[in-house]
Amino acid sequence: MQVYFDNAATTPLYPEVIQKVSDALKKYYGNPSSTHHLGRKSRTAIELARKEISSFIGANPQEIIFNSGGTEGINSIFYSAFHDLKVQRIITSKIEHHAVLHCLPIHDKKIEIQYVTIGSNGLIDLGSLEHLLAQPKGKTLVSLMHVNNEIGTITDLKKCGQICAKHQSLFHTDAVQSIGKLSIDVKECHITFLTASAHKFHGPKGVGFLYIKRNSGIKAQILGGAQERGIRAGTESVHNILGMSLALKLSYQQLDQNLKHISRLKARFISRLKGMFKELIINGIEENEHLGLPHICNVTLPIPRKKIPLLGFKLDMKGIACSQGSACQSGAPKGSHVLDELQKDSKDEFPSFRFSFSKFNTVQEIDYVLKSLKDIVSD
Ligand code: PLP
Repeated sequence: MQVYFDNAATTPLYPEVIQKVSDALKKYYGNPSSTHHLGRKSRTAIELARKEISSFIGANPQEIIFNSGGTEGINSIFYSAFHDLKVQRIITSKIEHHAVLHCLPIHDKKIEIQYVTIGSNGLIDLGSLEHLLAQPKGKTLVSLMHVNNEIGTITDLKKCGQICAKHQSLFHTDAVQSIGKLSIDVKECHITFLTASAHKFHGPKGVGFLYIKRNSGIKAQILGGAQERGIRAGTESVHNILGMSLALKLSYQQLDQNLKHISRLKARFISRLKGMFKELIINGIEENEHLGLPHICNVTLPIPRKKIPLLGFKLDMKGIACSQGSACQSGAPKGSHVLDELQKDSKDEFPSFRFSFSKFNTVQEIDYVLKSLKDIVSD
């Protein structure tokens, strides 16, 4: 049996999206910047996709910039925040994705970096955000992820945005793990910048979008043609953009039923794991749809010491794809900066695994993984 429980790393495509991308490759080969009928046909398709995508997050179509995905979007925002917006302070968290953490200008003495407090369950203490913002330090960018990719904790974007708005701070959210899985309204949440990536919601890889609030002063990082209102030059990846738009539509159409299905899978997985391992540690939130995304289940497994080194390998041999150590570096048995932050006092004596689910997973797969774990541990 093959089981794919690594959906936080990437997701399989919806069959409808594969069809759409394939059709688009044949139908929309004209360069959207060309003025002839084939170019115009591609342009129209892209603009319809832009309109559709914007409608899912409460944005205006002109506020959506297509790009290659989350990492590029985050780099653009940070680059422009320093160079164009002259940000003097960044407030973020130590459990952001490396795409954010590695963009921080930590050696630049002119820019102050401050970190919000994280609870032992991985939730951001918004009181600490308020406290930091209450000390005026010049133009500030707050960058906090919506859903953590390793432990699934959810940041209350509405509250966070209200705090940022009260202190006239710019607010970027890395929504790579939440878009298509949770509703987001950029206006209601006072979001200035949002980054998203299609491959996390059953769309194609190498395509994503940025929401940039109108008149926020962001300039180009990639220079060249006038595509994407001059902010992101380069011929648009028409088939990928159309595939992304359909993937987002399908995700939002099925939002409630997917959440229900995946919550059930997670609940079954955790309750049975608890039966197998008395000292199981759940990293993040066990069960609370407002605080933790059911798609992500990160656990520390208290297994006999001699079984530890080969556990990941043996799961893989049984056809089970999941993540050990750092998320988004699937299979890499490296320490995780997120778990380090959560488990400051306890040394990671036992291995942690991230099992992440999608609408395509089944109860049979949950039971197969549980049985496999049991067999490996008792073997
Ligand atoms: N941010 C988060 C929270 C992620 O999980 C990822 C995924 O790897 C990224 C950013 C990077 O996105 P992309 O793979 O589209 O560059």
